[in-house]
Amino acid sequence: MTAHIRPDLASIPAYVPGRNFPGAIKLASNETTVGPLPGVRDAVADAVANANRYPDNAAVALIEALASFLKVEPANVAAGCGSVTLCQELVQITCDQGDEVIYAWRSFEAYPVVTQVGHAVSVKVPLTEDFGHDLDAMLAAITDRTRLIFVCNPNNPTGNALSKAELESFLDAVPTHVVVALDEAYFEYSRSDADGIELFRSRPNVVVLRTFSKAYGLAGIRVGYAVADPEIIVALGKVHTPFTVSAVAQAAAIASLAAADELLARTEGVIAERTRVRSALIEAGYTVPESSANFVYLPLGELSPGFAEASTEAGILIRQYGVEGVRMTIGDPHENDAFLAFANTDVAKQA
Ligand code: PMP
Repeated sequence: MTAHIRPDLASIPAYVPGRNFPGAIKLASNETTVGPLPGVRDAVADAVANANRYPDNAAVALIEALASFLKVEPANVAAGCGSVTLCQELVQITCDQGDEVIYAWRSFEAYPVVTQVGHAVSVKVPLTEDFGHDLDAMLAAITDRTRLIFVCNPNNPTGNALSKAELESFLDAVPTHVVVALDEAYFEYSRSDADGIELFRSRPNVVVLRTFSKAYGLAGIRVGYAVADPEIIVALGKVHTPFTVSAVAQAAAIASLAAADELLARTEGVIAERTRVRSALIEAGYTVPESSANFVYLPLGELSPGFAEASTEAGILIRQYGVEGVRMTIGDPHENDAFLAFANTDVAKQA
């Protein structure tokens, strides 16, 4: 007898991790290129020394550190095993079977998966021609089944950022019973005036999602957080799988917050490289939308698979999105130079 597995899961493609090989230049996952600071490593080592004990399931010390860093109340903060887990939990707390989740497309690849796994229905609103959110179309997509809207700002993979004014008028037009998740995974690289923490203060239906995986450089340790009205935070706690934010993750996040000035200063270097890479790519004849994140997007259309394959052959791993485009993470200057050299080759241009 074979086990009964939910038949609808068959339509979710299995996650295919990017190909990796020794010596490859890895510009596929929007990571930072530098490892944790010594103080963060020490905090991790201390946590490991007590690894026989369960972590604090309420993550009190981390939540308090985040609350004071963000100038919100501890009751406004929830931690998760990466912010992707919080995306999943948001579907779980808002949607009954058949309810609708709206998001732009293309956007973060986890949205369709967490929506379907949560028995909800995806309503994908195409990006504008210049690869930004079509907020009017997203508003028009709201029905009486809409429960949740993801707004990825800056958007992964296209890099565009919405302004504060654009977001404010959007949020003011969304019915207040619909939860809006402002996914700010790349907030620290954005110089847009939009700051979800400011926007959530007067709006009980707004949830801000951020992560330690990007600018704070802890992608391998898995910790992210949500900031929202206490009612939403309490609900998130109900669906939270116990102990999924490990003691190591909590300790690393607290130590990273303590070093926030040093870590955030690094984003300036990434932004300078982003500007340099984008200009060089434009000069080489590519279309590159302006990016507010730690990556750039090349809308290569049908040429995307060939370009990505040739890039891999050249030892540089990037992310391909079907026949729409490719995304290249901003790495160290020498890694970026290697990508630019590849992008200037005939094989890349004729991909
Ligand atoms: N949101 C967006 C837009 C992302 O790109 C990512 C990571 N790729 C995440 C959330 C999740 O990050 P993590 O789970 O590592 O916190």
